[in-house]
Amino acid sequence: MMVTSVAGVYLSYPFCAQKCTYCNFASGVFPRDLERQYVNSLASELRAHTWQWKPETVYWGGGTPSILETEDLRARMGLIPGRPWAEATLEAAPGTVTPERARACVECGINRVSLGVQSFVENEIRRTGRKHTARTVQDEIAILRDTGISNVNIDLIAGLAGQTESSWRESLDWIERLAPPHVSIYMLEVDEDSRLGNEMLLGGVRYGAAETPGDDATAAFYEAAVARLAAMGIQRYEISNFARPGFESLHNLKYWKLEPYAGFGADAHSFDGRQRRRNPESPREYVEGCPSESMPAHVDEERFYVGLRLSSGVRPDLADWQRFAAPIQRFLDAGLLEAEDGVLRLTGRGVLLSNEVFQEFLIP
Ligand code: SF4
Repeated sequence: MMVTSVAGVYLSYPFCAQKCTYCNFASGVFPRDLERQYVNSLASELRAHTWQWKPETVYWGGGTPSILETEDLRARMGLIPGRPWAEATLEAAPGTVTPERARACVECGINRVSLGVQSFVENEIRRTGRKHTARTVQDEIAILRDTGISNVNIDLIAGLAGQTESSWRESLDWIERLAPPHVSIYMLEVDEDSRLGNEMLLGGVRYGAAETPGDDATAAFYEAAVARLAAMGIQRYEISNFARPGFESLHNLKYWKLEPYAGFGADAHSFDGRQRRRNPESPREYVEGCPSESMPAHVDEERFYVGLRLSSGVRPDLADWQRFAAPIQRFLDAGLLEAEDGVLRLTGRGVLLSNEVFQEFLIP
């Protein structure tokens, strides 16, 4: 694979103020001293890195990197070459954006904020374990815009406990009112390892397990969002991602286009065009210096199914058409894929069943 100069940098900050009820990531609430050690280890990893490319994008994900001390953020950003980056994103939890923090973000080169809103409806937000209100989000978007960060993403989750057709409409009404240039919509898949998943298995009432919409309702909420966002001029460009033209996430597009990126911190992944590397999953193992794992990338296979995530689809080469002739035909016949001018893409129904489609394109 050709190595390009458009590399991304991912930094993981797996610390959160609370553990959300649906969350199955290795993120959450950890002792304060671990957080300190982690921030130091992150700096050491950045210092030790040999930069093969000039980074084009930076992405702070979590966890909740918006609770990182601004001095720590500034110092770590100072260790990344390539400033000004084309895109530098900070994931933020509503309730953590203050005018001071927003100014500090701009000073260290952040030009995009991704707000993990998940819902604007109080009854749903409380059951996730979060504390914000719709008003918090409105105020914080105003702070960001006043400080010069208008490139804002809002994450929403379809399928939260207690969600109904009308409450989902209420969240989408807020999107229309706040008019962000980018929206991510995730369909909740309840994991047994989350508190909500556990409650579903054991029966309980604390997190609303009994009122969690089923798969069909969740899919209907997602499809309603696709139509509603399109009417606002916010088009789907990837299964979970929607943007006004020109506001697609440059960093996240690198994952789907198989461009290189370097990841730092616990559970961060890296890809150099040939190899994938994964840092230890838990922050404790990371600060203790457990080694990362490397494995060869299967670019031909990956190109196919990550490319299918994009609305622009993939252009299979001759070898792909031959190798995948049977599943391609089956999914074309079933209306899950469509082909046009040599490009293959998921249909609307194919998007909802994408996991089943992708499975067939794995090379044993
Ligand atoms: S969902 Fe996000 S904010 Fe909530 S615990 Fe998980 S990583 Fe933290």
